[in-house]
Amino acid sequence: MSSPGPEGLLALQDLDVSLDQHRHRLAHLPARLQLAELAARREALDGRRRSEEELRGEVLARQAKLEAELTATERRREEVSARLYGGSVSASRDLQAMAAEVESLSARAAELEEEGLVVLGELEPMEASLADLGSQRSRLDAEAEALEGVAAGAEAELRSEIDRLMAERSGVAASLPAELLATYERLRQRLGGVGAARLVGDRCAGCHLTLPATELDRVRHLPADAVVTCEQCGRILVRTTSPPTG
Ligand SMILES: [Zn+2]
Repeated sequence: MSSPGPEGLLALQDLDVSLDQHRHRLAHLPARLQLAELAARREALDGRRRSEEELRGEVLARQAKLEAELTATERRREEVSARLYGGSVSASRDLQAMAAEVESLSARAAELEEEGLVVLGELEPMEASLADLGSQRSRLDAEAEALEGVAAGAEAELRSEIDRLMAERSGVAASLPAELLATYERLRQRLGGVGAARLVGDRCAGCHLTLPATELDRVRHLPADAVVTCEQCGRILVRTTSPPTG
C-alpha cells in the first residue's frame, strides 16, 4: 500500500474531473440549447404575427368604413325611393330629381359593394397566413413543452449525480492532509482543472512530458508520502504502486 495522501489525491482528481464533466453537461444541455433556439423562433414568429395583425387591422378598418358607407347609402336610397313611390310628391321636376338620386345612390352602393369584394380578397390571404402562423406557433409550443420535459429530466439526473459525487468528494477530501488539499486546489484552479497527475512510467500524465532520468531516480527514492511536483507543469505527481486501470 502506498500512502493514503497521494493515492487519495488521485481519487479526488478523478471525482473533480467527473464533477467538471457533469457540470459542463448541465450547463450545455442539448435540450436547453434547442429550447433557446425555439424561443428565438417563437419570438420571430410572434413579431411576424404582430405586423401581419396590424396590416389586417388596417384592412378591417377600411372594410368597416366601406360597410358603414354602404349602410348609409342604402338607407338614403330607401328613404328617397319611399318618397318617390309614396305618392306624396307630384311635381315632375322633384320626381325626376328623386329618381336621379336613387339611380346615383344605387350606382354608389354597387361601387361600394365592389370595393368590399376587393377588400375581402385582400383579407383572405391575410387570414390564411395568420392561421398558418398560429398553427406554426402551436407546433413550436408543443415542441418546447416536450423539450422542457426532456431538459428537466436530464437536469434532475445530472444534479442528483453531482450531489452524489460531491458527497463522495467531501469524504475523500476530509481524508487528505489540509496542506496537500490546499496545494491541489490551487494547482487545479491554475492548471485547467487538473492539480494532480499520475506518474506513468517516466511520464507525467498531466503534461505528458518525460521526466529526466536523474529526476525520475530522485523521485523514486523519496518516501512514499513525500509530495512531489512535476518540474514541467507544476502538478502534484502521484506515484502509484499499481498501473492505472483507466
Ligand atoms: Zn507534468
